[in-house]
Amino acid sequence: MSRPVPKAGILDIAPYTPGKTPVPEAGRKVYKLSANETPFGPSPHAKEAFARVGTHLEDYPEGTSKVLRDAIGKRYGLDPDRIICGAGSDEILNLIAHVYLGPGDEAVHTEYGFLVYPIATMGNGATNVVAKEIEFTCNVDEILKCVTDKTKLVWLANPNNPTGSYLPYAEVKRLRSSLPDHVLLVLDAAYADYVEKPDYDSGLDMAKTTENTVVCYTFSKVHGLAALRIGWMFGPEHIVDAMNRVRGPFNVSAPAMLAAKAAIEDTDHVEARPQGDAERGEFHPDPLPDHARHDRGRRRCVPDQAWPRAARGRELRPASVAAHDHRHRGSQRARSRGLARIHATQ
Ligand SMILES: *Cc1c(COP(=O)(O)O)cnc(C)c1O
Repeated sequence: MSRPVPKAGILDIAPYTPGKTPVPEAGRKVYKLSANETPFGPSPHAKEAFARVGTHLEDYPEGTSKVLRDAIGKRYGLDPDRIICGAGSDEILNLIAHVYLGPGDEAVHTEYGFLVYPIATMGNGATNVVAKEIEFTCNVDEILKCVTDKTKLVWLANPNNPTGSYLPYAEVKRLRSSLPDHVLLVLDAAYADYVEKPDYDSGLDMAKTTENTVVCYTFSKVHGLAALRIGWMFGPEHIVDAMNRVRGPFNVSAPAMLAAKAAIEDTDHVEARPQGDAERGEFHPDPLPDHARHDRGRRRCVPDQAWPRAARGRELRPASVAAHDHRHRGSQRARSRGLARIHATQ
């Protein structure tokens, strides 16, 4: 009997099974650090905005996320017309792939790059090419070695998840200037707001001044709005225009849009956290193994408040990398075993 057949590439993607959250004892909350949920929660203003929208669930949201794009533009000094919002940066990454990748094309990501990249690449029939990392850090020369005349796109998580390492901006610039102009460079800045190293930059200026670079941000991490699924991208007008043609006309829900607007306007909430908690000595993220730390401490950075004290210790980092490896090998069982789940008392 014949039956519908998925297009080429779809069944090459390993099915994703999220790790189960263990049921905690009464009075304890479990922070699933494998998903990088913040233990601090969102801004109270974001919660209020969310609750207010809850009284009008019958209305469609405004379709272009204008109020949110305006707030983001103000916060980062960006033209709101060059911003696109999505249901998590996951949707944004998939939209990028949808617009720029197809059968015969290649997209490069690094060895421990974010798991959504191969899904987005292969989901559009393109070939996934994996560049080696050196000491758990993306390496520009390794990425460039992977570039062929079929390469259309390079995914770069900077800082990277799950390694916590980053590429200095000078290296990102070298990557951009060494890549052919028609290759889209996607800078995934999910953790940019945690980095305070002088040689780091998320690349918004590069996206302002080139025709082939975009930067993606999410509200899931530092803003604590993972449940709402909201992220955004800044890029050249022609790229944003192409993506807007394929995105769903109401892709961002009203609660997500308005809570995110309130969150980004509440700069005190975001800035207060790392200072306060670091001073109390509660958070000492240390996700890299010793050898990596010693060899390249300068380049190391970690999402400062993403890792509660209970998660300190070296086992966390290899576990999450192991989980990532398993994911790429498509072993579900090994993957859920490897996912780091941390209990911390609230
Ligand atoms: C969390 C994360 C994202 C996506 O987050 P969304 O929840 O889909 O907005 C993208 N890239 C990296 C590197 C991440 O860690």
